[in-house]
Amino acid sequence: MTVAIHQIPLGITNCYLIRDEGTVLVDGGPPKNIRKFLKTLSSLAINPQEISLILLTHCHWDHIGSAAEIKALTGAKLAIHRNGRDFMEKGGLKMVPPPATYLWGRLVRATTVRLATAIASYPRTTVDLVLGGDEFSLSDYGIDGSVIYTPGHSSDSVSLLLGTGEAFVGDLAMNGLPMRIGAGIPIFADDVGVVRESWRMLIDMGAKVFYPAHGKPFAADRLKGVV
Ligand SMILES: [Zn+2]
Repeated sequence: MTVAIHQIPLGITNCYLIRDEGTVLVDGGPPKNIRKFLKTLSSLAINPQEISLILLTHCHWDHIGSAAEIKALTGAKLAIHRNGRDFMEKGGLKMVPPPATYLWGRLVRATTVRLATAIASYPRTTVDLVLGGDEFSLSDYGIDGSVIYTPGHSSDSVSLLLGTGEAFVGDLAMNGLPMRIGAGIPIFADDVGVVRESWRMLIDMGAKVFYPAHGKPFAADRLKGVV
Protein backbone atom coordinates (compact mmCIF):
# COMPACT_ATOMS: atom_id res chain seq x y z
CA MET A 1 0.00 0.00 0.00
CA THR A 2 1.32 3.42 -0.84
CA VAL A 3 0.87 6.21 1.59
CA ALA A 4 -2.32 8.28 1.27
CA ILE A 5 -2.63 11.80 2.64
CA HIS A 6 -6.05 13.29 3.42
CA GLN A 7 -6.44 16.89 4.45
CA ILE A 8 -9.17 17.37 7.07
CA PRO A 9 -9.95 21.07 7.49
CA LEU A 10 -11.38 21.78 10.95
CA GLY A 11 -12.15 25.47 11.46
CA ILE A 12 -9.01 27.44 10.57
CA THR A 13 -6.75 24.39 10.91
CA ASN A 14 -5.73 21.74 8.41
CA CYS A 15 -5.46 18.39 10.13
CA TYR A 16 -3.97 15.56 8.11
CA LEU A 17 -4.79 11.88 8.07
CA ILE A 18 -1.91 9.71 6.90
CA ARG A 19 -2.71 6.16 5.86
CA ASP A 20 -0.38 3.35 5.01
CA GLU A 21 -0.23 0.05 6.90
CA GLY A 22 -1.58 2.13 9.79
CA THR A 23 -3.48 5.41 10.14
CA VAL A 24 -2.17 8.46 12.00
CA LEU A 25 -3.89 11.81 12.51
CA VAL A 26 -1.84 15.00 12.68
CA ASP A 27 -3.50 17.63 14.92
CA GLY A 28 -6.92 17.81 16.52
CA GLY A 29 -8.30 21.15 15.28
CA PRO A 30 -10.07 23.88 17.26
CA PRO A 31 -12.73 23.00 19.88
CA LYS A 32 -16.22 21.81 18.87
CA ASN A 33 -15.22 20.21 15.58
CA ILE A 34 -15.97 16.58 16.33
CA ARG A 35 -19.05 16.47 14.10
CA LYS A 36 -17.14 17.91 11.14
CA PHE A 37 -14.34 15.44 11.80
CA LEU A 38 -16.69 12.45 11.74
CA LYS A 39 -18.45 13.71 8.64
CA THR A 40 -15.15 14.01 6.79
CA LEU A 41 -14.06 10.53 7.87
CA SER A 42 -17.32 9.05 6.71
CA SER A 43 -17.02 10.79 3.32
CA LEU A 44 -13.59 9.16 3.00
CA ALA A 45 -15.07 5.80 4.09
CA ILE A 46 -12.63 5.61 6.99
CA ASN A 47 -13.64 4.01 10.27
CA PRO A 48 -12.59 6.28 13.19
CA GLN A 49 -11.23 3.24 15.03
CA GLU A 50 -8.60 2.73 12.34
CA ILE A 51 -6.72 5.74 13.71
CA SER A 52 -4.10 4.43 16.13
CA LEU A 53 -2.24 7.67 16.90
CA ILE A 54 -3.10 11.36 17.17
CA LEU A 55 0.02 13.48 16.90
CA LEU A 56 -0.37 17.04 18.13
CA THR A 57 2.17 19.33 16.46
CA HIS A 58 1.98 21.72 19.46
CA CYS A 59 -0.39 22.72 22.23
CA HIS A 60 -2.15 25.78 20.77
CA TRP A 61 -5.96 25.86 20.99
CA ASP A 62 -6.54 25.47 17.24
CA HIS A 63 -4.53 22.22 17.20
CA ILE A 64 -5.64 20.50 20.40
CA GLY A 65 -9.22 21.75 20.84
CA SER A 66 -11.03 18.62 19.64
CA ALA A 67 -8.22 16.16 20.42
CA ALA A 68 -9.76 14.79 23.64
CA GLU A 69 -13.03 13.99 21.88
CA ILE A 70 -11.26 12.47 18.90
CA LYS A 71 -9.16 10.34 21.25
CA ALA A 72 -12.25 9.14 23.16
CA LEU A 73 -14.00 8.30 19.94
CA THR A 74 -11.18 6.55 18.13
CA GLY A 75 -9.37 4.93 21.06
CA ALA A 76 -6.14 6.24 19.50
CA LYS A 77 -3.08 7.11 21.53
CA LEU A 78 -2.28 10.78 21.96
CA ALA A 79 1.24 12.10 21.43
CA ILE A 80 2.64 15.55 22.16
CA HIS A 81 6.04 16.99 23.00
CA ARG A 82 6.82 17.12 26.72
CA ASN A 83 6.68 20.94 26.73
CA GLY A 84 3.02 20.79 25.69
CA ARG A 85 1.94 17.94 27.91
CA ASP A 86 0.61 20.04 30.83
CA PHE A 87 -1.84 21.85 28.57
CA MET A 88 -3.43 18.54 27.68
CA GLU A 89 -3.44 17.08 31.16
CA LYS A 90 -3.85 19.93 33.66
CA GLY A 91 -6.71 22.37 33.99
CA GLY A 92 -6.50 26.12 34.42
CA LEU A 93 -3.45 26.78 32.28
CA LYS A 94 -3.64 29.81 30.07
CA MET A 95 -2.25 29.63 26.57
CA VAL A 96 -0.14 32.57 25.52
CA PRO A 97 0.37 32.89 21.76
CA PRO A 98 3.98 33.45 20.67
CA PRO A 99 5.04 36.99 19.67
CA ALA A 100 4.01 38.29 16.26
CA THR A 101 6.62 38.23 13.50
CA TYR A 102 4.88 40.82 11.27
CA LEU A 103 2.60 43.82 11.68
CA TRP A 104 -0.27 41.71 10.37
CA GLY A 105 0.51 39.12 13.02
CA ARG A 106 0.41 41.83 15.65
CA LEU A 107 -3.09 42.82 14.55
CA VAL A 108 -4.34 39.25 14.46
CA ARG A 109 -2.72 38.51 17.81
CA ALA A 110 -4.23 41.58 19.46
CA THR A 111 -7.72 40.75 18.24
CA THR A 112 -8.73 37.29 17.04
CA VAL A 113 -6.07 35.19 18.73
CA ARG A 114 -6.36 36.91 22.08
CA LEU A 115 -10.12 36.46 22.03
CA ALA A 116 -9.98 32.86 20.85
CA THR A 117 -7.37 31.94 23.45
CA ALA A 118 -9.33 33.65 26.20
CA ILE A 119 -12.61 31.88 25.47
CA ALA A 120 -11.22 28.56 24.25
CA SER A 121 -12.02 25.73 26.58
CA TYR A 122 -11.53 22.07 25.84
CA PRO A 123 -11.67 18.86 27.80
CA ARG A 124 -8.35 17.77 29.28
CA THR A 125 -7.09 14.31 28.51
CA THR A 126 -4.15 12.07 29.25
CA VAL A 127 -1.14 12.01 26.98
CA ASP A 128 -0.07 8.47 26.10
CA LEU A 129 3.19 9.28 24.38
CA VAL A 130 5.39 12.10 25.61
CA LEU A 131 7.91 13.13 22.96
CA GLY A 132 11.32 14.63 23.63
CA GLY A 133 14.15 15.90 21.47
CA ASP A 134 14.90 12.54 19.84
CA GLU A 135 13.53 11.37 16.51
CA PHE A 136 10.54 9.09 17.11
CA SER A 137 9.89 6.39 14.52
CA LEU A 138 6.29 5.67 13.51
CA SER A 139 7.01 2.15 12.28
CA ASP A 140 5.02 0.69 15.22
CA TYR A 141 2.04 2.67 13.88
CA GLY A 142 2.41 1.36 10.33
CA ILE A 143 3.84 4.56 8.88
CA ASP A 144 7.20 4.94 7.17
CA GLY A 145 8.20 8.16 8.85
CA SER A 146 9.15 9.78 12.10
CA VAL A 147 8.39 12.66 14.41
CA ILE A 148 11.09 15.31 14.61
CA TYR A 149 11.42 18.03 17.24
CA THR A 150 11.17 21.31 15.29
CA PRO A 151 10.96 24.27 17.69
CA GLY A 152 10.75 27.93 16.67
CA HIS A 153 7.01 28.63 16.48
CA SER A 154 6.70 27.24 20.01
CA SER A 155 8.92 25.26 22.36
CA ASP A 156 6.79 22.13 21.91
CA SER A 157 6.55 22.11 18.10
CA VAL A 158 7.12 18.80 16.33
CA SER A 159 6.80 17.75 12.68
CA LEU A 160 5.99 14.43 11.08
CA LEU A 161 8.36 13.60 8.22
CA LEU A 162 7.48 10.74 5.88
CA GLY A 163 10.14 8.61 4.20
CA THR A 164 8.72 9.91 0.89
CA GLY A 165 9.53 13.54 1.77
CA GLU A 166 6.20 14.97 2.95
CA ALA A 167 6.60 17.01 6.13
CA PHE A 168 3.58 17.89 8.31
CA VAL A 169 4.88 20.92 10.08
CA GLY A 170 1.97 22.37 12.09
CA ASP A 171 2.71 26.10 12.46
CA LEU A 172 6.45 25.91 11.74
CA ALA A 173 5.55 27.47 8.37
CA MET A 174 2.36 29.05 7.05
CA ASN A 175 1.15 29.49 3.50
CA GLY A 176 -1.52 31.93 2.48
CA LEU A 177 -4.45 33.89 3.80
CA PRO A 178 -5.79 34.53 6.35
CA MET A 179 -2.44 34.01 8.05
CA ARG A 180 0.01 35.42 5.54
CA ILE A 181 0.57 35.92 1.81
CA GLY A 182 2.66 33.14 0.32
CA ALA A 183 4.74 30.48 2.07
CA GLY A 184 7.16 31.31 4.83
CA ILE A 185 7.62 32.38 8.43
CA PRO A 186 4.56 31.85 10.65
CA ILE A 187 2.91 35.09 11.77
CA PHE A 188 3.64 34.11 15.37
CA ALA A 189 6.90 32.60 16.53
CA ASP A 190 8.97 32.28 19.68
CA ASP A 191 12.12 32.67 17.62
CA VAL A 192 12.33 33.25 13.86
CA GLY A 193 15.98 32.13 13.75
CA VAL A 194 15.05 28.81 15.34
CA VAL A 195 12.16 28.44 12.85
CA ARG A 196 14.70 28.68 10.01
CA GLU A 197 17.01 26.17 11.72
CA SER A 198 14.11 23.72 12.00
CA TRP A 199 13.24 24.20 8.29
CA ARG A 200 16.85 23.55 7.38
CA MET A 201 16.94 20.42 9.52
CA LEU A 202 13.80 19.03 7.91
CA ILE A 203 15.10 19.78 4.40
CA ASP A 204 18.46 18.16 5.26
CA MET A 205 16.55 15.12 6.49
CA GLY A 206 14.75 14.81 3.15
CA ALA A 207 11.64 17.03 3.38
CA LYS A 208 10.41 17.90 -0.11
CA VAL A 209 6.90 19.20 0.49
CA PHE A 210 5.73 21.11 3.56
CA TYR A 211 2.13 20.58 4.70
CA PRO A 212 1.29 23.49 7.01
CA ALA A 213 -1.69 23.63 9.37
CA HIS A 214 -2.67 26.98 7.87
CA GLY A 215 -2.56 27.23 4.08
CA LYS A 216 -1.82 24.90 1.20
CA PRO A 217 1.08 22.44 0.90
CA PHE A 218 4.14 23.88 -0.86
CA ALA A 219 7.50 22.69 -2.19
CA ALA A 220 10.32 22.93 0.36
CA ASP A 221 12.39 24.51 -2.45
CA ARG A 222 10.40 27.69 -1.93
CA LEU A 223 12.14 28.15 1.41
CA LYS A 224 15.61 27.69 -0.04
CA GLY A 225 16.24 31.41 -0.39
CA VAL A 226 15.55 31.96 3.28
CA VAL A 227 17.20 28.98 4.96
ZN1 LIG B 1 -2.24 27.12 14.45
